[in-house]
Amino acid sequence: MFTTAFAPTKPPIDFFAAIQELKQEMNAVILAHYYQDPDIQDIADYIGDSLGLSRQAASTDADVIVFAGVHFMAETAKILNPDKLVLLPDLAAGCSLADSCPPQAFAAFKATHPDHLVISYINCTAEIKAMSDIICTSSNAVEIVRQISKNQPIIFAPDRNLGQYVMQQTGRDLLLWQGSCIVHETFSERKILQLQAEYPEAEVIAHPECESTLLRHAKYIGSTTALLKYCQQSTTKVFIVATEPGIIHQMQKQEPDKIFIPAPPTTNSCACNECPYMRLNSLEKLYLAMKNRTPEIKLAEKTRLAALKPIQKMLEMSHK
Ligand code: SF4
Repeated sequence: MFTTAFAPTKPPIDFFAAIQELKQEMNAVILAHYYQDPDIQDIADYIGDSLGLSRQAASTDADVIVFAGVHFMAETAKILNPDKLVLLPDLAAGCSLADSCPPQAFAAFKATHPDHLVISYINCTAEIKAMSDIICTSSNAVEIVRQISKNQPIIFAPDRNLGQYVMQQTGRDLLLWQGSCIVHETFSERKILQLQAEYPEAEVIAHPECESTLLRHAKYIGSTTALLKYCQQSTTKVFIVATEPGIIHQMQKQEPDKIFIPAPPTTNSCACNECPYMRLNSLEKLYLAMKNRTPEIKLAEKTRLAALKPIQKMLEMSHK
């Protein structure tokens, strides 16, 4: 006769309640990006895009920052808050765009253009930030480039699509690092045109990390925060949304009577329009990170200090 050992049954954890309790105990703040799972967005203290999240991280008086986003975002929070514990639910939550700009190769590129000012999109590693003069986000990239003297040559890194968009908006010639995001380059122009034929009243709205071939079909282009605002203010009822579909959770919450269609990827067999890095975080991992106070973001002080300057510069310049 066989006997089977079962683990004693425990009542399931109510992660929402447990996280709220830990938050009080630890004096923690949960910052979440719009691309996170709906559950994570719903438990966060603040949901935003990179600029909003950086501002929140810079001004929080919490002892612990739990960053529900990807590595470079949590790293930015640590750069701004060296004395706080910064937790990322899954350390493997990286970013294809940040990875497309390896520090050694970028240092060599920069060295061949010593007269150029370096403006880097916040979606880059601390090492790239440390080599930059000013950081920008998709909310303020155009505004920041416009503040630089016309005679000053500029390297723009790492996103070539955002760089091209900034060039088109400002009329400036930027030297672009050829990086990109796998998610924003996956949208199918053909399928978007099919959707437009199917829903003639629909407006395409897009993030500037998308390729220019796609952006030319967009009625409105902006950061995730700007896209959200646009959907609220527009009288249009149907939107085809060309950015990571996690944002649709907030759009739908704000405008329950409007229809939001995620822009489809080129291949039918994948959910490539969903960021695989953002999706590594889960409510369970967030709870465990808080309970165990790990994984923690750590940074060499020399890199942190060098990366801090261009972020502070951005925060100053984007107030203007
Ligand atoms: S959506 Fe693209 S840019 Fe944003 S975190 Fe994912 S890979 Fe990086």
